Amino acid sequence: MSMYSDCIRRVRISPIQAMAERTRQAIRGGRDVVDLTLGEPDFPTPEHVCQAAVRAISEQQTKYTPINGTVELREAIARKFRRENALDVALDEISVGCGAKQVIFQALMATLRPGDEVVIPAPYWASYEDIVAVHDGVLKPVSTRLEDGFLMRPEALERALTPRTRWLVLNSPSNPSGAAYTAAQLAELADVIQRSAQRDFWILTDDIYEHILYDGLPFTTIAQLAPSLRERTLTVNGVSKAYAMTGWRVGYAAGPKALIAAMTKLQMQINSHTSSVSQAAARAALDGPQELVHSSCERFRQRRDLLQPRLDAIPGLRCPSPQGAFYLFPSVAGLLGRRTPDGTVLDDDIAVANHLLDRGVSVVPGTAFGMPGHLRLSYATSEAALVEAASRIRAAAEALQ
Ligand code: PLP
Repeated sequence: MSMYSDCIRRVRISPIQAMAERTRQAIRGGRDVVDLTLGEPDFPTPEHVCQAAVRAISEQQTKYTPINGTVELREAIARKFRRENALDVALDEISVGCGAKQVIFQALMATLRPGDEVVIPAPYWASYEDIVAVHDGVLKPVSTRLEDGFLMRPEALERALTPRTRWLVLNSPSNPSGAAYTAAQLAELADVIQRSAQRDFWILTDDIYEHILYDGLPFTTIAQLAPSLRERTLTVNGVSKAYAMTGWRVGYAAGPKALIAAMTKLQMQINSHTSSVSQAAARAALDGPQELVHSSCERFRQRRDLLQPRLDAIPGLRCPSPQGAFYLFPSVAGLLGRRTPDGTVLDDDIAVANHLLDRGVSVVPGTAFGMPGHLRLSYATSEAALVEAASRIRAAAEALQ
């Protein structure tokens, strides 16, 4: 008899972590590898944020806090939603957890019943698939196309909604494609939701890449755009990507009071709350100077403009220029079926990623994000590393027969 629960069987080993681990092993073994697997800013956390944490420690802010976060942090989050998203949110409509990941996990845990469907445009952040699976939900991916900029078309959304739909997940700008919806495109999706005969589903909008948006495209989130959907929408965000604070583990969400209460009830038995010190740091990040937010976005844009044309020019690759986040998601369809110098046939994106790792560049296969035939490359790394990676990928592609 198995000693493990069913949910363990349903969850994959994170394909991103698996590739990151293979990369670490290769590097430990003395190989020179440019690592483009990681999804975190390479800038330091701002000094004023670190100082706020030091102050919190010396002032003994080292005890349990309310489960859904300190009042001071939730007030800062409410100010953020008002300032940046024109959303008025009460303190009991806010949840704070160990990263956006925990908040999303709890939202699905609080609401999914076996067989409930979660509609997500593909490609999608790999963790959604596993979080849905843990809770015995059924992922309903909605395919998008490179030619449409990886954006979900309203008619595709309409077809995907069924009486079993419990959640629709939106993520703009997207990990892994970088695709971002304009206000008009988002309004079309909101219109489908409002007109749909299906009413018993929630909308989760994962806005974690809100501030990494290029070319003057203004950010919009669905609760702001369609106030009538507010009572069904969980707006998720966090400090990880905007303030280079991945390790501090603070994410948050605003949503209907009853949903937030259900999520908080679960969190009470999971980890109570995220660290009191991290909460003080997150408050300083949200309330303090926003220079890093703007300067890092500009740095990421320069890196996108450095790497994207180099990849797009490699025969066999098609790499559009995304509007946000810090990933490229090229198609490698033109490399499939080709043979490496040692005779391996590149059957799929996983084989292509393995070939690139042999050639000194580590990337994540698109299969991990529900879209085979692509690769995800993170450009949250130095310009020198990106130029080197592009020339290694070109050499790897040119070495194929
Ligand atoms: N949502 C998306 C789309 C992400 O890419 C990530 C991290 O990679 C997260 C959520 C999780 O962020 P956090 O560090 O706040 O848990």
